[in-house]
Amino acid sequence: MNIKLTFCGAAGNVTGSRYLVQANGRNVYVDCGLFQEWKFKKRNWDPFVVPPGETDAVILTHGHLDHCGLIPRLIKMGYKGRVFCTKATADIAGIVMSDSGRIQEEDARYKAKRHRREGRQGAGPKDPLYTADDAEVARTRFAPCAFDTPVRVTDGMSATFFSAGHILGAASVALKIQDGQEERTIVFSGDVGPWDMPILEDPIAPVAADYVVVESTYGDKDHPQEEPVADQLARVVNETYAAGGNLVIPSFSVERAQDLLYHLSNLLHARRIPKLKVFLDSPMAIRVTEVFKRNPDLFDDEAMAMIMRGDHPCDFPGLKFCRSTQESKDIAKEKGPVVIIAGSGMCTAGRIKHHLAHNIGRAENTVLFVGYQASGTLGRRILSGEPEVRILGEKHRVRARVESILGFSAHAGRSDLKRWLSSFATPPRHVFVTHGEDDAREPFVALIEDELGFAASRPEYLQSVDLD
Ligand code: ZN
Repeated sequence: MNIKLTFCGAAGNVTGSRYLVQANGRNVYVDCGLFQEWKFKKRNWDPFVVPPGETDAVILTHGHLDHCGLIPRLIKMGYKGRVFCTKATADIAGIVMSDSGRIQEEDARYKAKRHRREGRQGAGPKDPLYTADDAEVARTRFAPCAFDTPVRVTDGMSATFFSAGHILGAASVALKIQDGQEERTIVFSGDVGPWDMPILEDPIAPVAADYVVVESTYGDKDHPQEEPVADQLARVVNETYAAGGNLVIPSFSVERAQDLLYHLSNLLHARRIPKLKVFLDSPMAIRVTEVFKRNPDLFDDEAMAMIMRGDHPCDFPGLKFCRSTQESKDIAKEKGPVVIIAGSGMCTAGRIKHHLAHNIGRAENTVLFVGYQASGTLGRRILSGEPEVRILGEKHRVRARVESILGFSAHAGRSDLKRWLSSFATPPRHVFVTHGEDDAREPFVALIEDELGFAASRPEYLQSVDLD
């Protein structure tokens, strides 16, 4: 067998997932994601390792931007084939790519304006990486596949999708490569979720692989044991309600917003929180929530039990979806305690800024963070206790209570990653540890070698290895 595997991203960092598998004269990508770290963004513009027109198939593990966000670019540059993924991933990736196309266009316009103002040409490309229209074209290339059923992706290669428990539709992929009588399987973990995620089924690791490519976002640590998320959320809702204030929750649109709705729905039905108005003020989160509603077959037993008793994990009395700008503006006219869930998750853009401007100055309100806040973002400034922050060009005193719930991770911690790898019945020949900072990868390679007894390494960006 002669298989070449090239690590085109997510090698020593956590974005830009893309792996090139070359065998039997065929070129196949597993994932084709956007680099999102500031220092690596330039790589999005680099030429592809093989000309897009000579690429035979793309397999996508899930709909996060750092896994699907470069697909419109690949197609724009000449890729003619299809994108194989699960049904829910096709829907979510479609939403994520078109949002990204819109942002790429805005970025290009903003950059051009800034350069004009500064009277300079500016280095680097002037056109957007791709447009919303390019993303629409990309959507038409998706080939939705069932879980647990092998599908032929090109000559001599087939892929099987296994639930990864990370976001709706997320999969690990077993890629089977055949050459005459010989056969090899490479398993790509994609992003693995923790066991017991809300709504989603637990990860299922494939049992057989010659080679494994595994993520290691939290390869160095487990998530801290905290009070259950539902208990923390109930406390914050009740305290804010008692104070007569509004609860403002900046949230990511994919999975986090739906997890929040799930917990609120459960708490409401258990009468652990009062009936109150909840606004999901994010067109993108609403579209993703609709994908959840169309895919109850992917829910776990607890979420199914909710449906059987007539409730829905992503819906409850008092929940209002705000699609239009006017609906969003009208929230400010509401009297009495309300819950507002809006994007962006780190308060860097979107409708959340208006809600913060309106609510952050009053002591009876609460701003609740439910996700990671990167340094330099408005979210981080509020979370770290700055007394005054600038929102939409104006200064605001922070008088609202600031709370944070950290237990919402969609990524497996170190123990769950080990649990996932432990399901291989026979040791893989080699495990490649990717999708993690080196601080996380190094101790995880050591764990795989010392505790599981598998050979493991951490490949570098653009490194190629020959697999026999
Ligand atoms: Zn992901």
